[in-house]
Amino acid sequence: MRVLAIGAHPDDLELQCAGTLAKYALRGDHVTMAVAMSGDCGSATLPKREIAAIRGEEARASAAVLAAEFLVMRDYSDGFLFSTEQTRLDFLNVVRQARPDVILTHSPNDYHPDHRMTAQIVCDVRIMITVPNIKTEAPPCETLPEIYFFDTMAGVDFVPQHYVDISSTFDMKKQMLACHKSQSSWLQDQYNMTYLDFIDCVGRFRGLQCGVPYAECFQVSPTWPKRAKGILLP
Ligand SMILES: [Zn+2]
Repeated sequence: MRVLAIGAHPDDLELQCAGTLAKYALRGDHVTMAVAMSGDCGSATLPKREIAAIRGEEARASAAVLAAEFLVMRDYSDGFLFSTEQTRLDFLNVVRQARPDVILTHSPNDYHPDHRMTAQIVCDVRIMITVPNIKTEAPPCETLPEIYFFDTMAGVDFVPQHYVDISSTFDMKKQMLACHKSQSSWLQDQYNMTYLDFIDCVGRFRGLQCGVPYAECFQVSPTWPKRAKGILLP
């Protein structure tokens, strides 16, 4: 199976779905991690171009933990992702490159505008990926993927429909998040948030809900046409 995870910022996938991606990777599925934004606002001291370059390398290092393919969009500047012809074509091209059976992306009601816009554009381009007359560098796909929304930050206003037991891959999730070294002090200063404590707390909370030590959770996108069978990991 082919799996594509699309996050807005360079560390979003690690926070919300890396344990699930690790399970896919370990069972032999092809995993692609795509990041839309450059992460250029992730520092109080470094200029945009410098922090963006650092964060790009951190995201690549994290994807390498899974031996996942890594794709970037157009390095959009943090806070300014909009649904335009260009952004739709960029997202479309990334989906066509990855040719996924399943896409994991943000919830449409997450706290950050870039997260919400990423979810919207992913949903908006889904139906176009098989359409031959919409041209991109990558050729059209043959089939439509199922889209799953991953948890919101800290689980705010998110009612899970599916849980994935990530107890066996939680250490890999931590290892991937630890690649984003530039963000630990920034998040501490900005949000009083400690990366590893954060995923430990959320992972255990979601695990508590489904009877396992650690879990991640998802909602399925209510769209058409659907596949006959769900393709998220049990
Ligand atoms: Zn983010």
